[in-house]
Amino acid sequence: MDRLRAGAVSGLLSSMADVVLGRSCAGCDAPGIALCQECRHALRARPRLRRSVDLGDIEGGLHLPVACALEYRGAVRQVLYRFKDHRIPHLARPLAPALAASIAFAAEHAGIECARTTLVVMPTRRSTAKRRGFDPLGSVVAGAIREQRVAGVRTPLVDIRRAGTSKTLGVWERQLATAGAFAVRGHARGRGRSHSRGSGLLPDGPVILVDDIVTTGATAREAAATLIVAGVHVVAVATIAGTP
Ligand SMILES: [Zn+2]
Repeated sequence: MDRLRAGAVSGLLSSMADVVLGRSCAGCDAPGIALCQECRHALRARPRLRRSVDLGDIEGGLHLPVACALEYRGAVRQVLYRFKDHRIPHLARPLAPALAASIAFAAEHAGIECARTTLVVMPTRRSTAKRRGFDPLGSVVAGAIREQRVAGVRTPLVDIRRAGTSKTLGVWERQLATAGAFAVRGHARGRGRSHSRGSGLLPDGPVILVDDIVTTGATAREAAATLIVAGVHVVAVATIAGTP
């Protein structure tokens, strides 16, 4: 490695260490504090609806509302990236209120009482979970349900995609890539509904599907479709952040 690159890498590592240790802001790298006032402000929940997810091909006329609480850009994007890819667990704390607000907003829009709603958490790709060694979305959900009471949290979905990134794909490519992406745990395709219900994995009441970021909505659509086909009553999708 030449000296210039070595310098850049060591600079990157030390700035990462500053963020991990709370010596600089996770959103903008300003020194001195784990999350500066400006970035805290950017992380304040402003729940809104994004375009709905069209599931008309599964159930006639069905559109699921998709809620998000933060704009996926700037400090929010940086904090989420560092939280997930740099594995900085304490960043779950400032993100949890946003998810809580998004869940409450989604429930309200769907006309469902939050306390009667079960959250189904979007699964992580096995390869990604293994590489990260921690469960970012799960830890934000845990924080969110301390603020917003729900009927329960379930993780019946399994991501059955092979390793590979979807970050660079366009809308149509994503839809193709996500077709058949998920399965319900213990619920073989075409084997009927009784098995997972019997094992208590699938909730009977209304369900909000929870994810960290919504971009095209293709992944949420595929996960929701998988649940609906398995007999789950999905009423909305709630995410932490969404692209503007
Ligand atoms: Zn900042």
